[in-house]
Amino acid sequence: MVELKDVSVTYSDSGVEALNHVNLKINDGDFAFVVGSSGAGKSTLIKLILKEINATDGTVMVNGFNLKKLRRSKIPQLRRTIGVVFQDFRLIPTMTVYENIAFVLRVIDAPPKYIRSRVPYVISLVGLSHKAKSYPTQLSGGEQQRVALARALVNDPALIIADEPTGNIDPALSYEIVDLFKGINECGTTILMVTHEHDIVRHFGGRIINIDHGQVTFDEVVEGNYENQ
Ligand code: ADP
Repeated sequence: MVELKDVSVTYSDSGVEALNHVNLKINDGDFAFVVGSSGAGKSTLIKLILKEINATDGTVMVNGFNLKKLRRSKIPQLRRTIGVVFQDFRLIPTMTVYENIAFVLRVIDAPPKYIRSRVPYVISLVGLSHKAKSYPTQLSGGEQQRVALARALVNDPALIIADEPTGNIDPALSYEIVDLFKGINECGTTILMVTHEHDIVRHFGGRIINIDHGQVTFDEVVEGNYENQ
């Protein structure tokens, strides 16, 4: 669960108020698109949730953590409850698909036996079992993003944040990626997806949060047009 209460963020160097008295609640199990033009404050929202930056004012709760009170030493605990998927995938080029994902669990000292069962499972969830031994450069953009999603999922996070996950993908495959996120959401993971792609938002519908000049100007559930096809 993510809850922002009257949150403002001002960047001290530029004096820009990137978020301005934002109130927002994402419940467990929600799927929400976050839209808004460049400079609206979307990245600031993501950085705030990951505690890469702090709110200047207001309260931010993420998966039971009150971020204002969270000590620096506890930040890894917060981040383990969140999986992040980036526009540019951020896979390690010298590692296979399997290794890219197993790496996340090795870093947190997960038992090898668990790693050997969990990694193939998440690879199968994203439909890439046949590519487990491939390297990122041997995969299409869509496949690389599936690996990034599997990596985000491997730790069984309560929340997945996807920052323009279809931005570097062939438009035709973008729908498949969002479908995959939808499927993951149906299994209980909360998903917050930032996107510029209005066609995708219109197609899938659901909860749409629009940010404009640091404020939430629209937050409603909209019917997707694919439901009428
Ligand atoms: P979006 O992700 O919607 O494009 P951002 O959250 O990146 O928007 O930016 C919101 C506003 O904050 C913009 O005016 C941007 O220039 C400013 N901003 C973002 N990051 C910084 C920073 N590190 N220092 C100063 N100003 C920033």
